[in-house]
Amino acid sequence: MANEMLKCRAYGHRWNDRGWIAMIKDSVRGWEQELECDRCQTVRSDFRARGTLALISRSYQYKHSDYPGAIKQRTAMQGLIAGDAVRKPEPIEVVA
Ligand SMILES: [Zn+2]
Repeated sequence: MANEMLKCRAYGHRWNDRGWIAMIKDSVRGWEQELECDRCQTVRSDFRARGTLALISRSYQYKHSDYPGAIKQRTAMQGLIAGDAVRKPEPIEVVA
């Protein structure tokens, strides 16, 4: 899982849409959308204004206590290069 979470830091989450629900938050009528990452199971909740759909708030729920949230994108990429994410070179096809 650690490598998968590094991928989320390096490339961004792979969001799946869990749908919208109408709700009232702090007396504001709006729509809440939930997205879940299919790699690290982080859930993002966006609350948007009912009419304009302007973003009012965004929150994240991390499902893994060891999620490397403080790691920068470049550091995550370096970790992936040093790990098992390096691609093997493909054989060169020789055309006669
Ligand atoms: Zn993720």
